[in-house]
Amino acid sequence: MDKLYESAKPSVEDALLKDLSLDVPWSLIEYFSTLKRDSGTEDERKAAHYISEQLNKFGIPHQVYEPDLFISLPVSAYLRVENQEINARPLSFSVSTGAQGISGEVVYMQSVIPEGSSPLGVQPRYVSPSGEEVDVRDKIILVEGFGFEGAAYHFEQRGAKGLIYINPGEYIHSGICTTIWGAPDLDSAPRQPKIPVIVINGPDGQALKSRVSSEKTEAKLIAELREGWVQCPLIVAEIEGQLEPERFLLVHGHYDSWYVGIGDNAVGNATLLELARVFNKHRKELSRSLKIAWWPGHSTGRYAGSTWFADTFGLSLQQNCIAQVNIDSPGCRWATEYYDVSWMKEAENFCIKVIKDATGKIASGRRSLQAGDYSFNNIGLTGFFMLLSSMPRELLQEKGYYPVGGCGGNIEWHTEYDTIEIADPDNLMRDLRVYVVALQRVINNPVHPFDFRDLAHEFRSTLSNYAENAGNEGADFSPAFEALERLESELNKLYSRIGEMTDYDVKDPKVRAVNDAILNLSRLLIPINFTRHGRFRNEPSIPVPPLPDLAPSLEIGESSEHLRHVTRTHLQRGINRVAFAFDEAAKVARNSHQQNSHPPR
Ligand SMILES: [Zn+2]
Repeated sequence: MDKLYESAKPSVEDALLKDLSLDVPWSLIEYFSTLKRDSGTEDERKAAHYISEQLNKFGIPHQVYEPDLFISLPVSAYLRVENQEINARPLSFSVSTGAQGISGEVVYMQSVIPEGSSPLGVQPRYVSPSGEEVDVRDKIILVEGFGFEGAAYHFEQRGAKGLIYINPGEYIHSGICTTIWGAPDLDSAPRQPKIPVIVINGPDGQALKSRVSSEKTEAKLIAELREGWVQCPLIVAEIEGQLEPERFLLVHGHYDSWYVGIGDNAVGNATLLELARVFNKHRKELSRSLKIAWWPGHSTGRYAGSTWFADTFGLSLQQNCIAQVNIDSPGCRWATEYYDVSWMKEAENFCIKVIKDATGKIASGRRSLQAGDYSFNNIGLTGFFMLLSSMPRELLQEKGYYPVGGCGGNIEWHTEYDTIEIADPDNLMRDLRVYVVALQRVINNPVHPFDFRDLAHEFRSTLSNYAENAGNEGADFSPAFEALERLESELNKLYSRIGEMTDYDVKDPKVRAVNDAILNLSRLLIPINFTRHGRFRNEPSIPVPPLPDLAPSLEIGESSEHLRHVTRTHLQRGINRVAFAFDEAAKVARNSHQQNSHPPR
């Protein structure tokens, strides 16, 4: 299948690579280092204006939209324990307490994550250090972490009145605590946090933690935020392809930031601009179209910009988007390696080949996180990349760095120290090469370079794991296994035909038919692997396990009798959904050889 991943137009790829330069991207980085790009502020607007002016200068067609986004900007926090004041900051979407604040007893709860997993990808369980059930009503809860994974909702449901996060190191990292993805709708609005949530740094937090464990400790907490609907510029450049202009690749990243956010994400904004420049210059050699988007509302609106785009253009994305590529924190200081790179399984071998060809490096990756403007999983878009290059693991260890969610592993991430030193010109150029190679091949290769046999293979091991864990307590998994077998057999036939088609013309109806099939497969199989809600809805911003409908099988053994019944019912419905999707996907693969085009439904 390697041919599917190689460039069908090596000379175009070479020309694009040769034209890459750091002039335009580095000027953007320098200018953005003077702008604190909070959403809805003047600095964000200046940044948007700059991007738009640059696109004008290069004659790149683009739209500047002005959506109303729901934003929460942290202003200040105050924490007093007995007579001591502790430096603190509120998380976006914490409630504002008013000047009187709240007071209460502080209770420490431990966050437990499965052994060996990264703290950024899994949902912790919260337990008291003694292991006993603790009544948290009217308490202020103290936990460790960054505060992104929905603890506010967890504790407010149990009656807590406030939440304090202890960050891992000396820095206080900014962040967001709502689980609502993008703008709230009637289903998600009730999940908006109803308690104040603040962060303190590691040394202060550990001191507070040991105090709390040895004596009853009272604290007073004040949080102030500005929350509301604000117009934020959202920019989309469109470079039209020559042969199949209606089909497009979406490449995107957020341009709002915490502070001046150079590593997260001025470097990404610079990358998007340089990609727009070189691909526009070579637009006559592009078979399909490229849409390049700069989102506002990521940091303080929980992906509000990309979600607005997914909502507003949902039908067109569903019909014609080939895949989505998220660009966040490339080209950072010391970030020379490619591991833990995000991709969906069907894009894995393509991404590995792209990184090898562009940089000579061997990449490894992981299932994409429920984060980083992946606002398109419910529509069913294949996605790859989010964060790209990282500091070598040995270097992280040598420096004593803890895992962070961007900046190539530099712990200045989400702090006022994420300044211009975090960007690295050589690393940025190397990452730019990766994006050029990836984009060029998706746009120009006759057959889309995604292999759904790899996803089917992953489904098999996910299902086996769940079925085994559920054991006799669970539902009957056999309908899912049987449907998966039918799907695998049809995919084998589809991809053996594709193997003979890599030299075909983009305009060949046979090529169009298999590409339609590939898009249809993504629309059917990605939602069951990443979502539990409807196609044009979205998921809470908490970690999502593979085939999430069936994941509760991992816990069924520990449940009470009532909960076992409930879980079994849940699994039965999930098995129906999954098996039905497998069979629909098998039909898509089977029908594609009839050469008639079946556009995504
Ligand atoms: Zn980011």
